[in-house]
Amino acid sequence: MLRLPLKEMQASSGMFKSNAPLIRRLLILLQFLPGVLSWGKEGHYATCKIAEGLLTQEAITTVKMLLPDYANGDLASLCSWADEIRHNPRWRWTGPLHYIDTPDFKCNYDYCRDCHDFAGRKDRCAAGAIYNYSTQLSYYGLPASEQKYNLTEALLFLSHFIGDIHQPLHVGFTGDAGGNTITVRWYRRKTNLHHVWDNMIIESALKKFYNLNLAVLVETLRTNILEDWSADIPSWEVCESNQTVCPNLHASESIRLACKFAYRNATPGSTLGDEYFLTRLPIVEKRLAQGGVRLAAVLNRIFVPVQPSRLRSDS
Ligand SMILES: [Zn+2]
Repeated sequence: MLRLPLKEMQASSGMFKSNAPLIRRLLILLQFLPGVLSWGKEGHYATCKIAEGLLTQEAITTVKMLLPDYANGDLASLCSWADEIRHNPRWRWTGPLHYIDTPDFKCNYDYCRDCHDFAGRKDRCAAGAIYNYSTQLSYYGLPASEQKYNLTEALLFLSHFIGDIHQPLHVGFTGDAGGNTITVRWYRRKTNLHHVWDNMIIESALKKFYNLNLAVLVETLRTNILEDWSADIPSWEVCESNQTVCPNLHASESIRLACKFAYRNATPGSTLGDEYFLTRLPIVEKRLAQGGVRLAAVLNRIFVPVQPSRLRSDS
Protein backbone atom coordinates (compact mmCIF):
# COMPACT_ATOMS: atom_id res chain seq x y z
CA MET A 1 0.00 0.00 0.00
CA LEU A 2 1.33 3.41 -0.93
CA ARG A 3 1.70 5.72 2.05
CA LEU A 4 1.07 9.41 1.83
CA PRO A 5 4.27 11.44 1.89
CA LEU A 6 5.03 13.24 5.11
CA LYS A 7 5.20 17.00 5.12
CA GLU A 8 8.83 17.10 6.25
CA MET A 9 9.80 14.33 3.88
CA GLN A 10 8.32 16.29 1.03
CA ALA A 11 10.23 19.38 1.86
CA SER A 12 12.92 20.29 -0.60
CA SER A 13 15.87 21.67 1.29
CA GLY A 14 17.69 22.92 -1.75
CA MET A 15 20.86 21.43 -0.30
CA PHE A 16 22.01 20.17 -3.65
CA LYS A 17 21.18 23.28 -5.60
CA SER A 18 24.07 25.41 -4.43
CA ASN A 19 26.92 25.61 -1.93
CA ALA A 20 28.44 22.36 -3.13
CA PRO A 21 32.00 23.22 -1.97
CA LEU A 22 30.71 24.16 1.49
CA ILE A 23 28.72 20.94 1.73
CA ARG A 24 31.71 18.91 0.61
CA ARG A 25 33.80 20.43 3.42
CA LEU A 26 30.97 19.81 5.89
CA LEU A 27 30.71 16.17 4.86
CA ILE A 28 34.46 15.70 5.23
CA LEU A 29 34.28 17.17 8.75
CA LEU A 30 31.29 15.01 9.69
CA GLN A 31 33.18 11.87 8.76
CA PHE A 32 35.32 12.38 11.85
CA LEU A 33 32.44 12.75 14.28
CA PRO A 34 31.49 9.70 16.35
CA GLY A 35 27.91 8.56 16.44
CA VAL A 36 25.54 5.68 15.98
CA LEU A 37 25.24 5.21 12.26
CA SER A 38 23.74 2.48 10.17
CA TRP A 39 25.23 -0.20 7.89
CA GLY A 40 28.66 1.39 8.07
CA LYS A 41 30.12 3.32 5.19
CA GLU A 42 31.50 0.09 3.74
CA GLY A 43 28.12 -1.64 3.80
CA HIS A 44 26.30 1.21 2.08
CA TYR A 45 29.08 1.59 -0.46
CA ALA A 46 28.94 -2.13 -1.31
CA THR A 47 25.15 -2.13 -1.67
CA CYS A 48 25.12 0.92 -3.94
CA LYS A 49 28.12 -0.29 -5.96
CA ILE A 50 26.33 -3.58 -6.65
CA ALA A 51 23.20 -1.65 -7.65
CA GLU A 52 25.17 0.60 -10.02
CA GLY A 53 26.30 -2.45 -11.98
CA LEU A 54 22.72 -3.64 -12.50
CA LEU A 55 21.07 -0.43 -13.71
CA THR A 56 19.47 -0.05 -17.11
CA GLN A 57 20.86 2.62 -19.45
CA GLU A 58 17.86 4.87 -18.71
CA ALA A 59 18.42 4.52 -14.96
CA ILE A 60 22.19 5.14 -15.26
CA THR A 61 21.54 8.32 -17.24
CA THR A 62 18.94 9.61 -14.78
CA VAL A 63 20.99 8.76 -11.68
CA LYS A 64 24.01 10.58 -13.13
CA MET A 65 21.86 13.57 -13.95
CA LEU A 66 20.51 13.73 -10.40
CA LEU A 67 23.86 13.33 -8.61
CA PRO A 68 25.78 16.49 -7.69
CA ASP A 69 28.79 17.14 -9.94
CA TYR A 70 31.33 16.29 -7.25
CA ALA A 71 30.03 12.69 -7.11
CA ASN A 72 31.48 12.19 -10.60
CA GLY A 73 28.53 10.01 -11.53
CA ASP A 74 29.20 7.57 -8.68
CA LEU A 75 26.08 6.89 -6.60
CA ALA A 76 28.02 4.68 -4.17
CA SER A 77 30.22 7.61 -3.12
CA LEU A 78 27.16 9.37 -1.64
CA CYS A 79 25.26 6.40 -0.22
CA SER A 80 26.23 7.30 3.35
CA TRP A 81 25.14 10.91 2.93
CA ALA A 82 21.94 10.26 4.90
CA ASP A 83 24.05 9.11 7.88
CA GLU A 84 26.43 12.03 7.59
CA ILE A 85 23.68 14.63 7.91
CA ARG A 86 21.37 12.96 10.41
CA HIS A 87 22.89 14.56 13.51
CA ASN A 88 22.75 18.01 11.98
CA PRO A 89 19.87 19.88 13.75
CA ARG A 90 18.24 20.66 10.44
CA TRP A 91 18.04 16.98 9.54
CA ARG A 92 17.50 15.45 12.98
CA TRP A 93 13.92 14.58 12.08
CA THR A 94 15.30 12.01 9.61
CA GLY A 95 16.84 9.90 12.42
CA PRO A 96 13.86 7.51 12.81
CA LEU A 97 13.82 6.92 9.03
CA HIS A 98 16.93 4.73 9.32
CA TYR A 99 15.33 1.86 11.25
CA ILE A 100 12.18 0.15 12.53
CA ASP A 101 11.58 -0.74 16.17
CA THR A 102 9.50 -3.88 16.67
CA PRO A 103 7.92 -5.29 19.87
CA ASP A 104 10.43 -7.13 22.07
CA PHE A 105 10.91 -10.84 21.30
CA LYS A 106 8.07 -11.00 18.74
CA CYS A 107 10.32 -11.64 15.69
CA ASN A 108 7.77 -10.23 13.27
CA TYR A 109 6.99 -6.87 11.71
CA ASP A 110 3.77 -5.06 10.90
CA TYR A 111 3.70 -1.67 9.13
CA CYS A 112 0.68 -0.29 10.98
CA ARG A 113 2.00 -1.40 14.34
CA ASP A 114 5.70 -0.64 13.91
CA CYS A 115 6.21 2.16 11.37
CA HIS A 116 6.33 5.26 13.56
CA ASP A 117 8.92 7.33 15.35
CA PHE A 118 9.55 7.48 19.13
CA ALA A 119 6.68 10.00 19.48
CA GLY A 120 4.26 7.67 17.67
CA ARG A 121 4.11 9.72 14.46
CA LYS A 122 3.05 7.30 11.75
CA ASP A 123 5.07 6.46 8.61
CA ARG A 124 8.33 7.67 10.18
CA CYS A 125 10.44 4.56 9.79
CA ALA A 126 12.66 3.04 7.10
CA ALA A 127 9.70 1.41 5.31
CA GLY A 128 7.66 4.64 5.30
CA ALA A 129 10.68 6.55 3.99
CA ILE A 130 11.19 4.04 1.15
CA TYR A 131 7.54 4.46 0.10
CA ASN A 132 7.84 8.21 0.31
CA TYR A 133 11.11 8.75 -1.55
CA SER A 134 10.28 6.22 -4.28
CA THR A 135 7.02 8.12 -4.86
CA GLN A 136 8.92 11.41 -5.06
CA LEU A 137 11.38 9.96 -7.58
CA SER A 138 8.53 8.75 -9.79
CA TYR A 139 7.93 12.42 -10.67
CA TYR A 140 11.40 12.75 -12.22
CA GLY A 141 10.05 13.34 -15.72
CA LEU A 142 8.14 16.49 -14.82
CA PRO A 143 9.49 19.79 -16.13
CA ALA A 144 11.68 21.54 -13.56
CA SER A 145 9.09 24.30 -13.14
CA GLU A 146 6.50 21.75 -11.94
CA GLN A 147 8.88 19.77 -9.75
CA LYS A 148 7.84 19.81 -6.08
CA TYR A 149 10.63 17.62 -4.76
CA ASN A 150 14.38 17.70 -4.52
CA LEU A 151 15.06 14.52 -6.47
CA THR A 152 18.76 14.44 -5.60
CA GLU A 153 17.87 14.13 -1.95
CA ALA A 154 15.14 11.62 -2.77
CA LEU A 155 17.61 9.43 -4.68
CA LEU A 156 20.21 9.54 -1.90
CA PHE A 157 17.66 8.85 0.84
CA LEU A 158 16.05 5.99 -1.08
CA SER A 159 19.43 4.39 -1.89
CA HIS A 160 20.49 4.65 1.74
CA PHE A 161 17.26 3.41 3.34
CA ILE A 162 17.01 0.37 1.04
CA GLY A 163 20.47 -0.51 2.37
CA ASP A 164 19.48 0.10 5.99
CA ILE A 165 16.31 -1.99 5.88
CA HIS A 166 18.41 -4.98 4.81
CA GLN A 167 20.63 -4.76 7.90
CA PRO A 168 18.83 -7.25 10.17
CA LEU A 169 19.23 -5.17 13.34
CA HIS A 170 17.75 -2.10 11.66
CA VAL A 171 14.49 -3.95 12.22
CA GLY A 172 15.09 -4.91 15.85
CA PHE A 173 13.51 -4.88 19.27
CA THR A 174 12.40 -1.57 20.79
CA GLY A 175 13.73 -2.48 24.26
CA ASP A 176 17.34 -2.73 23.14
CA ALA A 177 17.17 -0.17 20.29
CA GLY A 178 18.01 -2.76 17.66
CA GLY A 179 20.95 -4.09 19.67
CA ASN A 180 22.42 -0.67 20.44
CA THR A 181 22.09 -1.20 24.20
CA ILE A 182 23.45 -4.77 24.16
CA THR A 183 27.10 -4.38 25.13
CA VAL A 184 29.31 -7.16 23.82
CA ARG A 185 32.93 -7.78 22.97
CA TRP A 186 33.86 -8.26 19.35
CA TYR A 187 36.91 -10.41 19.91
CA ARG A 188 38.72 -8.20 22.44
CA ARG A 189 37.07 -4.92 21.58
CA LYS A 190 34.15 -3.56 23.61
CA THR A 191 31.23 -2.49 21.44
CA ASN A 192 27.51 -3.12 21.03
CA LEU A 193 25.60 -5.69 19.01
CA HIS A 194 24.15 -3.16 16.58
CA HIS A 195 27.64 -1.88 15.74
CA VAL A 196 28.82 -5.46 15.23
CA TRP A 197 26.23 -5.84 12.46
CA ASP A 198 26.72 -2.36 10.99
CA ASN A 199 30.51 -2.45 10.91
CA MET A 200 32.51 -5.08 12.74
CA ILE A 201 31.51 -8.17 10.76
CA ILE A 202 32.29 -6.35 7.51
CA GLU A 203 35.56 -4.90 8.87
CA SER A 204 36.71 -8.31 10.11
CA ALA A 205 35.80 -9.87 6.77
CA LEU A 206 37.79 -7.19 4.94
CA LYS A 207 40.81 -7.97 7.14
CA LYS A 208 40.59 -11.74 7.05
CA PHE A 209 39.32 -12.51 3.56
CA TYR A 210 39.51 -9.46 1.31
CA ASN A 211 42.98 -8.02 1.88
CA LEU A 212 41.40 -4.84 3.34
CA ASN A 213 40.06 -4.09 -0.12
CA LEU A 214 36.37 -3.19 -0.33
CA ALA A 215 36.45 -3.50 -4.13
CA VAL A 216 37.39 -7.17 -3.76
CA LEU A 217 34.44 -7.76 -1.44
CA VAL A 218 32.10 -6.03 -3.91
CA GLU A 219 33.52 -8.09 -6.78
CA THR A 220 33.04 -11.29 -4.80
CA LEU A 221 29.39 -10.44 -4.13
CA ARG A 222 28.93 -9.61 -7.82
CA THR A 223 30.34 -13.00 -8.77
CA ASN A 224 27.99 -14.71 -6.32
CA ILE A 225 25.06 -12.82 -7.86
CA LEU A 226 26.04 -14.15 -11.29
CA GLU A 227 26.76 -17.67 -10.05
CA ASP A 228 25.69 -19.12 -6.67
CA TRP A 229 22.67 -16.84 -6.16
CA SER A 230 21.69 -16.41 -9.81
CA ALA A 231 18.62 -18.65 -9.57
CA ASP A 232 17.32 -16.56 -6.65
CA ILE A 233 17.80 -13.12 -8.23
CA PRO A 234 14.38 -12.90 -9.95
CA SER A 235 12.68 -13.62 -6.61
CA TRP A 236 14.82 -10.96 -4.89
CA GLU A 237 13.89 -8.34 -7.49
CA VAL A 238 10.16 -8.83 -7.62
CA CYS A 239 7.56 -7.14 -5.41
CA GLU A 240 4.11 -8.52 -4.71
CA SER A 241 1.36 -7.17 -6.99
CA ASN A 242 3.97 -5.52 -9.21
CA GLN A 243 4.58 -2.74 -6.69
CA THR A 244 7.59 -0.49 -7.28
CA VAL A 245 8.96 -1.04 -3.79
CA CYS A 246 8.29 -3.65 -1.11
CA PRO A 247 9.97 -2.53 2.11
CA ASN A 248 7.53 -4.54 4.23
CA LEU A 249 8.92 -7.75 2.76
CA HIS A 250 12.50 -6.64 3.43
CA ALA A 251 11.65 -5.58 6.99
CA SER A 252 9.98 -8.91 7.72
CA GLU A 253 13.05 -10.75 6.44
CA SER A 254 15.31 -8.56 8.59
CA ILE A 255 13.55 -9.11 11.91
CA ARG A 256 13.46 -12.87 11.25
CA LEU A 257 17.22 -12.82 10.56
CA ALA A 258 17.78 -10.63 13.62
CA CYS A 259 16.09 -13.23 15.82
CA LYS A 260 17.67 -16.24 14.18
CA PHE A 261 21.23 -14.93 13.83
CA ALA A 262 21.91 -11.50 15.35
CA TYR A 263 20.36 -11.81 18.82
CA ARG A 264 21.10 -15.53 19.19
CA ASN A 265 24.06 -16.21 21.49
CA ALA A 266 24.72 -12.49 21.81
CA THR A 267 23.46 -11.72 25.30
CA PRO A 268 24.72 -8.63 27.14
CA GLY A 269 28.31 -9.08 28.24
CA SER A 270 29.07 -11.95 25.88
CA THR A 271 32.22 -12.18 23.79
CA LEU A 272 31.68 -12.79 20.09
CA GLY A 273 34.52 -14.42 18.19
CA ASP A 274 35.20 -16.81 15.34
CA GLU A 275 32.13 -18.97 15.81
CA TYR A 276 29.75 -15.99 15.68
CA PHE A 277 31.73 -14.21 12.94
CA LEU A 278 31.99 -17.16 10.57
CA THR A 279 28.34 -18.19 10.89
CA ARG A 280 26.98 -14.62 10.52
CA LEU A 281 29.22 -13.32 7.75
CA PRO A 282 27.25 -15.23 5.04
CA ILE A 283 24.07 -13.52 6.27
CA VAL A 284 25.67 -10.06 6.10
CA GLU A 285 27.08 -10.70 2.64
CA LYS A 286 23.75 -11.93 1.31
CA ARG A 287 21.90 -8.92 2.75
CA LEU A 288 24.41 -6.51 1.15
CA ALA A 289 23.85 -8.26 -2.18
CA GLN A 290 20.06 -8.35 -1.80
CA GLY A 291 20.03 -4.64 -0.94
CA GLY A 292 22.04 -3.88 -4.08
CA VAL A 293 19.95 -6.07 -6.38
CA ARG A 294 16.74 -4.60 -5.02
CA LEU A 295 17.93 -0.99 -5.15
CA ALA A 296 18.79 -1.51 -8.83
CA ALA A 297 15.42 -3.17 -9.49
CA VAL A 298 13.59 -0.25 -7.85
CA LEU A 299 15.54 2.42 -9.77
CA ASN A 300 15.06 0.46 -13.01
CA ARG A 301 11.30 0.37 -12.38
CA ILE A 302 11.14 4.08 -11.58
CA PHE A 303 13.45 5.43 -14.27
CA VAL A 304 11.76 4.25 -17.44
CA PRO A 305 11.35 6.44 -20.53
CA VAL A 306 8.70 9.02 -19.63
CA GLN A 307 5.29 8.62 -21.22
CA PRO A 308 3.57 12.01 -21.73
CA SER A 309 0.19 10.46 -20.85
CA ARG A 310 1.58 9.18 -17.52
CA LEU A 311 2.70 12.66 -16.57
CA ARG A 312 -0.63 14.19 -17.41
CA SER A 313 -2.54 11.68 -15.30
CA ASP A 314 -0.13 12.07 -12.34
CA SER A 315 0.03 15.83 -12.30
ZN1 LIG B 1 21.22 4.79 7.99
